[in-house]
Amino acid sequence: MSNVERELSYNSYWLAVLVVGFTALMLYMVTSLGRDIEKHALEQPIYHFADVLNEQTIDTIDQIESGAWVKNDKQNFGLTNASQWLKVDFPHTQNSQVLEVDYAMIDSIQIWFRHKNDNSDYNPDSGSDYRTVEYYNLGDSLKFSERPIIHDKFLIPLPDALEGIQLLLRLQSTGPVKAPLKLWYKQDYIVYTASHRLFMGLFFGYMLAMGLINLFLFITTRNVTFITYAGYVFSFALLIGAIHGLGYRFIWPQSPWFEERAAAIFAFMMMSFVLVFSSQILELRTQSPKYYLVFKGFFIIYALGTVCSLFVAYAIMIRLLLLLLLFSIPVILLVSLSLALKGSEIAKFFSTAWLALLFSGLTAAADNFHWISLPIDSSYLLMVGATTETLLLALAVATSYSVQRREARKAHSEAAENEVHAMQAQDDVLALQQQAQISLEEQVVSRTQEFEEALVGLSKVHDELQGMSETDTLTGLTNRRFFEKHILAEAARSRREKQPLAVALLDIDNFKNVNDSYGHQCGDDCLVAFANTLKKIIKRPGDSLSRYGGEEFVILLPDTTIDGAKKILEKFRLAVQGLVVETQGQRIKFTVSAGVTSSVIGADNECDKMLALADKLLYQAKEAGRNCIKSGSF
Ligand code: GH3
Ligand code: MG
Ligand code: MG
Repeated sequence: MSNVERELSYNSYWLAVLVVGFTALMLYMVTSLGRDIEKHALEQPIYHFADVLNEQTIDTIDQIESGAWVKNDKQNFGLTNASQWLKVDFPHTQNSQVLEVDYAMIDSIQIWFRHKNDNSDYNPDSGSDYRTVEYYNLGDSLKFSERPIIHDKFLIPLPDALEGIQLLLRLQSTGPVKAPLKLWYKQDYIVYTASHRLFMGLFFGYMLAMGLINLFLFITTRNVTFITYAGYVFSFALLIGAIHGLGYRFIWPQSPWFEERAAAIFAFMMMSFVLVFSSQILELRTQSPKYYLVFKGFFIIYALGTVCSLFVAYAIMIRLLLLLLLFSIPVILLVSLSLALKGSEIAKFFSTAWLALLFSGLTAAADNFHWISLPIDSSYLLMVGATTETLLLALAVATSYSVQRREARKAHSEAAENEVHAMQAQDDVLALQQQAQISLEEQVVSRTQEFEEALVGLSKVHDELQGMSETDTLTGLTNRRFFEKHILAEAARSRREKQPLAVALLDIDNFKNVNDSYGHQCGDDCLVAFANTLKKIIKRPGDSLSRYGGEEFVILLPDTTIDGAKKILEKFRLAVQGLVVETQGQRIKFTVSAGVTSSVIGADNECDKMLALADKLLYQAKEAGRNCIKSGSF
């Protein structure tokens, strides 16, 4: 079920109650009014003569042969330029009676009450047997105040207490000519007028209320459909007011000029509003652009017609109006029906409303053409149709507006929801971004850490490598490479500080024999034991012992004189001499010889000379029988 459908099905209960109730009330009133009116139709036959050439006058009319006068029931002659003559014979009249012409828009009504002449009164010149007793000139081309009885209908008092009175009427109008004649006793007419006015009051009150409500709705909502609908209601009410003579009676009694044009102006105006309002409510602009153009075209014509009605003769405008209605009413109906068939609920509503008006209009027309005979006056029926239509249309407008508003509200809340979603999405993106940044930072930190760790590791490895390259793996002493760098540094210090630097070369005696006797592994163990023994003796932090190669060792003793050095080396010699290496079940003993020298270094190349001297002294120690120390100054 669509929104519109639900809305309409909900409304349709109230709608049915309202429409049926209101229409029934109107119909009841109209019917009782109709019965009143029917009772007061003339009992006497009415004769009619159409003066097509407009040449007859009161003086010549009696010369018309009696066969030209035709009996007429409804006194409805349609759009005609011919002047219409009516003739009624009353057996007697009394002035408590009034004659009513039950149509308010005839330009000119001339009325003669005539008394049949006695023979003595016969006037051979006029050729007439009649003498005019009373003459009245009425019609809405005259000022309202000139009427014999001030009333929206044409009322003519009957002459008092006369026998054999003939009534002669001459009607002429640029619009439709009709003059239903009624005869009332004055008191009856007062009673009738009261209920007639109540009915009219109800109708106009209803139309005014509808118009005002929609005007207020326009002011509060600014929805244009409400004001076009109000325009339609007001112009429709004014049109009905004009047709029933109430406009001339109450609104423009001073202006026969406006009275002549009022019906055309309001009819054109009403149709202009109808077309705008219809195309708005049927949403033609979006639903059906082709129909929209057709409606727009009709609207322009009707709007122009409204303006033209002020200047162009009513006779032309009324014919133009009828022609236009003949085309536009079926178009409006067909368009709304075709949209209704396509499923537009508003269009169904709209079609029903227009069908109600069309039905009452057609019924009224059929009655006017004597195809059917209604118990009620056709103009009242049209009012009932209009009331029903107005009510249905008001509900259609209200429904379409409320649906529009609900849809707008829905769209609005959807938009708001979307906005919330968008904001949430934005927040999510921000959160993700922040997270990404945090994790990126974390990654950077951890990578940096890893990198730093790697660097530390690398430098450790580097140090290790460095250490490894300067350490002897077997004994754990520094090696020759270290010694060669170290001696340069110590030589520089010695030179700087003018302190003696002692250098000694040591060589294990007959070590070849150890290897040969016990094996190479035992030899290695002896080398380790030898190194450990020497390490224990060296106390000063500046002193350094390095493996020079094979079973040869070198010792650097900074700030040590030759005597000091000799003492230390003697300590070495004695320690080694006392050393017993126990390995693989063997007890191995060996001795060491050394050459030592000491001096304050004067130049870099002196290191080599010192070493050469130490080597030479070592050789001398070997020569001297081993297990001894040889020293010499540089
Ligand atoms: P000398 O008293 O003249 O010094 O006699 P020597 O046998 O010690 O002299 P030589 O220089 O001819 O022999 C050195 C021997 O030292 C050769 C080798 O067997 C041994 N040797 C050198 N380096 C090592 C080592 O790293 N391990 C072992 N087990 N033996 C070594
Ligand atoms: Mg050797
Ligand atoms: Mg040796």
